[in-house]
Amino acid sequence: MTELERKQDRAPVPSEWTYASAPEARDIVTLQDRYGHYVGGEWLEARETYTTISPATEEPLAEVGQATPEEVQAAVDAARDAYANGWSDVSPSERAKYLFRIARILQERSREFAVLESLNGGKPIKESRDVDLPLSAAHFFYYAGWADKLEYAFPNRKPRPVGVAGQIIPWNFPLLMLAWKIAPALAAGNTVVLKPAETTPLSALLFCDVLRQAELPPGVVNIVTGDGRTGAEIVKSEGVDKVAFTGSTDVGKAIQRELAGTGKKLTLELGGKAANIIFDDAALDQAVEGIINGIYFNQGHVCCAGSRLLVQESIYEPVVEKLKRRLTTLRVGDPLDKNTDVGAINSKQQLDKIQELVASGAEEGAEIYQPPCRLPEQGYWFAPTVFTNVAQSYRIAQEEIFGPVLSILTFRTPDEAVEKANNTPYGLSAGVWTEKGSRILWMAERLRAGVVWANTYNRFDPSSPFGGYKESGFGREGGRHGLEPYLDLT
Ligand code: NDP
Repeated sequence: MTELERKQDRAPVPSEWTYASAPEARDIVTLQDRYGHYVGGEWLEARETYTTISPATEEPLAEVGQATPEEVQAAVDAARDAYANGWSDVSPSERAKYLFRIARILQERSREFAVLESLNGGKPIKESRDVDLPLSAAHFFYYAGWADKLEYAFPNRKPRPVGVAGQIIPWNFPLLMLAWKIAPALAAGNTVVLKPAETTPLSALLFCDVLRQAELPPGVVNIVTGDGRTGAEIVKSEGVDKVAFTGSTDVGKAIQRELAGTGKKLTLELGGKAANIIFDDAALDQAVEGIINGIYFNQGHVCCAGSRLLVQESIYEPVVEKLKRRLTTLRVGDPLDKNTDVGAINSKQQLDKIQELVASGAEEGAEIYQPPCRLPEQGYWFAPTVFTNVAQSYRIAQEEIFGPVLSILTFRTPDEAVEKANNTPYGLSAGVWTEKGSRILWMAERLRAGVVWANTYNRFDPSSPFGGYKESGFGREGGRHGLEPYLDLT
């Protein structure tokens, strides 16, 4: 017992804290054994299926469809039919009504969706509950507000919907990416065919139930599941007028090649390798929280993750020391436990990719630190990792790892920070930590990144446009800008 504790007559603080588990009840979610495709407001029996699992336990959850070219075509036909025979005549305020309904139902059913999202994707329940679900509902609310104000959003132009939107989304924020895609498309008066990622189809399939509850006319939103082949079929389908894709840069480039010369509209939201830059006048404890949030949020499966930490040389040691200490307090484990900070890696394939890149970092000469933590034996797991002694040329400083792995580099001057931050093929996001407003503005002007956060990180708001430069893609999602790709403005 310390002198202070004796004086205060308190028991000594235990040297090792352990948390009793606080599991979220799973029975709020009712899964079917088998799902088909949601086409024209009906469930279409899937001809081929595969098993979707929980990445935390490898437990099979359900059989879902692997859409064939004919099934994709049926979905596109349903969307085209709904567009031509009804939806394009629905008044804008009526469209808004459906979006408001969807938003409200998502709020009402948020616990169910949050549990399902964590179960199928591996992310901690506190993130699905406090981030994915509120933001998904907020997105529908936000775009509901625009549906009958398009003339005000684009004054002196004649906004008209483009037709059928083909939308392909990734596995890191399954429901939120669905909201980012569907909400602006419907607000602008389009119909939709959407494909969720192969590993995380279940929240999109539950969303079909929300569409029915909201009484959205049949065919306005169609959902087909499957792997990349299904995505490729959507992209090349002649009945699709606009493609919106979020995922890897390689697939984004392939889609762009496929669509070249077709006249179809395209937006691409691809990868990133963001710099999170800490100046020596920053509030260090807050910055350390921002670093943790920047890279360990959602296991680092975040396109805008702050995966390259640039620390001003004079504060390198205290920052690394504080960061390592903070890392030891992160709780890695069961995604459905409300105490969990870092959940499961989304798939075996992604775990292999992380392991391969981390091995390359150690081989190239970087120093690795992982806090002591016991990882579950079953499922896909990776301990929060920090690399120091990283050179800019190392793969871990250049390539998107998409996992809980941070590479630390240093700089001396603001110019050097900008040069290093921009030294990547990507340009999606960046973070700046300093107490000087003038420096924030100076940096923001020079950073080639679509989003620059100042003294915070990973903040999202439906009214704020999001998107990249260079190999991070083009087009913006969110805000008024997010309507533009879904409108013909001539
Ligand atoms: P992909 O780009 O393969 O997946 C994104 C979506 O595109 C999925 O729905 C996928 O289906 C689909 N898809 C795959 N191939 C095609 C194709 N040829 N035509 C049309 N659609 C296709 O990403 P991965 O899941 O393979 O992840 C690989 C890497 O990509 C990650 O390690 C990460 O670096 C990056 N990534 C970036 C994301 C971002 O938000 N910017 C999100 C996800 C990944 P399926 O699920 O079946 O593969």
